Amino acid sequence: MKISRLTKRISMGAIALVCSIGVALPASAIGPDSMKQEPKGAYVPSGTPDLSTLNSPFSMKSSMKGKGNKKNQQALGPANPSYTIDVDYNSSTHKVAGTLEVTFKNNIKNNLSELYFNLWGNAEVFKENGGGMNVSDVKVNGKNAAFEINETALHIKDLSLSKNKKATVSMDFEVSLPEQQDRFGWYGETVSMGNWFPILAVYDDEGWNVDPYYPYGESFYSLSGKFDVTVTTDKNQVIAATGEEVGKAKITGDKATHRYKAKDVRDFALEMNPNYRVISTEVNNIKVNVYYSEEHSKYAAALLESGEDSIKLFSEKFGQYPWPELDIVTMEGWFGGMEYPQLVMISLAGDRPLDWAKSVNAHEIGHQWFYGIIGNNEYDEPWLDESFASFAAALYDGELDSLQVEPTEETYYHLSSQISDFTAREDEGGIGAYYYMIYNYGSSTINDLRELLGDEVFYSAMQTYFKQQKFGISTTRDFIVSMEKSTGRDLMPFFRDHRVLLSDQE
Ligand SMILES: [Zn+2]
Repeated sequence: MKISRLTKRISMGAIALVCSIGVALPASAIGPDSMKQEPKGAYVPSGTPDLSTLNSPFSMKSSMKGKGNKKNQQALGPANPSYTIDVDYNSSTHKVAGTLEVTFKNNIKNNLSELYFNLWGNAEVFKENGGGMNVSDVKVNGKNAAFEINETALHIKDLSLSKNKKATVSMDFEVSLPEQQDRFGWYGETVSMGNWFPILAVYDDEGWNVDPYYPYGESFYSLSGKFDVTVTTDKNQVIAATGEEVGKAKITGDKATHRYKAKDVRDFALEMNPNYRVISTEVNNIKVNVYYSEEHSKYAAALLESGEDSIKLFSEKFGQYPWPELDIVTMEGWFGGMEYPQLVMISLAGDRPLDWAKSVNAHEIGHQWFYGIIGNNEYDEPWLDESFASFAAALYDGELDSLQVEPTEETYYHLSSQISDFTAREDEGGIGAYYYMIYNYGSSTINDLRELLGDEVFYSAMQTYFKQQKFGISTTRDFIVSMEKSTGRDLMPFFRDHRVLLSDQE
């Protein structure tokens, strides 16, 4: 996500940095000197979340910490999730209701006794505005299963699943969208459905990951799989979605039923508005669409052009964009932009400059590579997607040669810090430090690595990293090992100097 800081490029004057959720931070809020302050002037959601509670609720991983940090890819599961979702969206009540079924392989252990799902719509910041999620009639392999919901975690208990066997979980679910200019919510006639369905949590070498929702960035973590999603709603809705639409919508009275399929994606998002117009182009056999409402008309061509240019540039530098389609949608969030697989939300609230919108678009499209294709645990290692997406945007902007950012004076903050390290110091400007370190200093660090290795060696090593991690989950260790192997160099001193520490993973 990109918080819309209209600032940044410390050495260049006003430039946009974007991430997944962007807030407009004044340049003065970004320098190391200001790290002790709240990001003043940030454009924050109406119900500002209480970040002090974000630190704790579920830390079932903590007991496993310190047991060695060598990521065992075999332990990442449940593997090969395949979702079938069938829902109705009611445009008057802003409710989604329907069924979800997910089949996966238990690659974790014998007699697997529990499963977790994330119900992100239950985050406090959404509940305050009428949002929420509920599930019922949970079955595992056709049998009723006991479950319990604790805020954003759905815990399914008392199971005994055999190792290396497939299992299927089914449930009914209901979602109330909050009235909120956000990645999840409705505002005016625009409906944003990011993180809107129960999604399998990930079990890794630290146990189950059920971290709290982080409103100023992402705490999402999911494995790539398949989606078959059917949505019935008013027939006048124009819908952008992850994946590709299968055939034409089926019209029944004033309703339309749309079906979408996607593969090798780790999430599924939708954006709709009855007034959306669409322009499209094709690049590298990929269809690029911009969905925009009339008030955003002046941005449409620029977003399409920057979308096309970003796909071309990042495919050449990092590895081919792997899906047949990409949707760019305009909306009016409190942030700069937000990434989902094959769908990016560009927030055009207020009068954003065209160049800003193009740069935010490049950042979010950069996330198709860093988050979408090369996945990571966004709560534990946010730099693995945000620093790289910010680097990609600076590459698109042609500003790498002037990208020079110093780290915070406060050495407590590392580039490889977890989100909880920043939220723990919220009162001392931890959120500003998060943006500063993970976006600004992070992109500058990737650029320092490029300068150290030279363009040819750097991009060739990035392409190897892409091939190794495609549709998987990367860690800080994976990145360092991959770069060292590709270049034949000892890069530990470089990363240590840039506050990338493997001990942060333990
Ligand atoms: Zn981002």
